[in-house]
Amino acid sequence: MKPTVLIVGAGVIGCSLAYQLTLRGAAVTVIDAAELSSGTSSATFAWVNANDKAPAEYQRLNVLGLRAHERARTARALGAADWFHQTGNLHVAATDAEMDALEEKVGRLTSTGYDATVLTRAEIEELEPSIDSAGLKGGALYPKEGWIDTIAMCAGLLQKACASGAVFLPYQRVTELRPTGQVTVTSADGTTRHYAADVTVLAAGNGNRPILRTMDVDFPTRPSTGDEGTGVGPSAVGLIATTGPVETGIGHVVHAPGISLRPARNGGVTFTDSPTGALWKPDDPRIWTVPGLLLDRARMLYPALRNATTETVTLGTRVLPNDGVTISGWITEKSSVYAIATHSGVTLAAHLAEVVSEEVITGERHESLRPFGLTRFAS
Ligand SMILES: Cc1cc2nc3c(=O)[nH]c(=O)nc-3n(C[C@H](O)[C@H](O)[C@H](O)COP(=O)(O)OP(=O)(O)OC[C@H]3O[C@@H](n4cnc5c(N)ncnc54)[C@H](O)[C@@H]3O)c2cc1C
Repeated sequence: MKPTVLIVGAGVIGCSLAYQLTLRGAAVTVIDAAELSSGTSSATFAWVNANDKAPAEYQRLNVLGLRAHERARTARALGAADWFHQTGNLHVAATDAEMDALEEKVGRLTSTGYDATVLTRAEIEELEPSIDSAGLKGGALYPKEGWIDTIAMCAGLLQKACASGAVFLPYQRVTELRPTGQVTVTSADGTTRHYAADVTVLAAGNGNRPILRTMDVDFPTRPSTGDEGTGVGPSAVGLIATTGPVETGIGHVVHAPGISLRPARNGGVTFTDSPTGALWKPDDPRIWTVPGLLLDRARMLYPALRNATTETVTLGTRVLPNDGVTISGWITEKSSVYAIATHSGVTLAAHLAEVVSEEVITGERHESLRPFGLTRFAS
């Protein structure tokens, strides 16, 4: 008998998992406190990469993530070609020191078999004709990387899962979890209901921690706000902005000093910069000076953006385990509650969904997940 599975959370992780579990014959119910892709998955740069992450086993996990997206896209399976834009990632350098660092990184990555090439300024101009290359020393290209349209991905995968019998319950907040996996959910009108299944998988991003607290489990992710009595600092907030539709000719994910850009689903450009986005706390009004500052930097690199205006700005709280890398494992000994929490979840979703669904159904843990269980926090 295939198990019944409750998935809490319809972000990139929960939706990918719903698809993979229904593919393996499980009876799946997905519960979300809001709409699909409304958590961190709606406020992400969504760059798919394994661009030199640490430690080595986390780099390997991200390589598997990139490959899983690529496989699905190449096979044109599940509509992945519609959401994984494998444009390549172009990293440009403005100083000799930045160029040296890029060359060193390309050497390190290619020695592990990762696709990466150093580029001259002329090669950059050929790849991105609308870039203003005057101040550039050169760059690097990572041709297998790209970006994901997370809304299309979540909707596409959940739709496929529902076509195979999964049920999606939006606007149902899990307010209590028991060790058996039974959950209590509360709807917006205050009605409560109970759901039970053989296995409950928590894929609620920053929601995992408060849910597990109802079961007296101190889940080791950074709290989204304040220290909530943990002594651990809050997770970092990032700011992602998108222009209205604009003809810029940006074809790649592009990283330059102080600004990262990529094409957006609306025909505009999405731009961000982690250090600049983290200059102010989310409730500090000065944070709203950041989009203008970043757009000015983007215009220096792409003069075609001169008339572009910012259409949307989102603030996303990173889902950040205390040691920075993925958590994927059983919470309860009797295998009834499983939890996944990860940064880089857009890159990792396709691989994690394949191997976690296998683990939930067969009990077999994939070798790539071994370093990412909860036991590492035991000490
Ligand atoms: C600024 C920023 C930039 C990023 N850039 C990248 C990048 O370039 N590449 C990359 O790979 N990753 C990136 N990430 C990380 C990536 O976006 C996340 O790892 C990923 O979106 C996490 O997805 P998730 O499905 O785990 O969580 P979420 O998307 O947060 O989904 C969780 C869902 O659970 C629901 N939920 C929460 N609590 C409850 C509850 N009690 N009951 C029911 N439902 C609940 C929420 O409504 C939500 O829909 C970035 C993140 C940020 C913030």
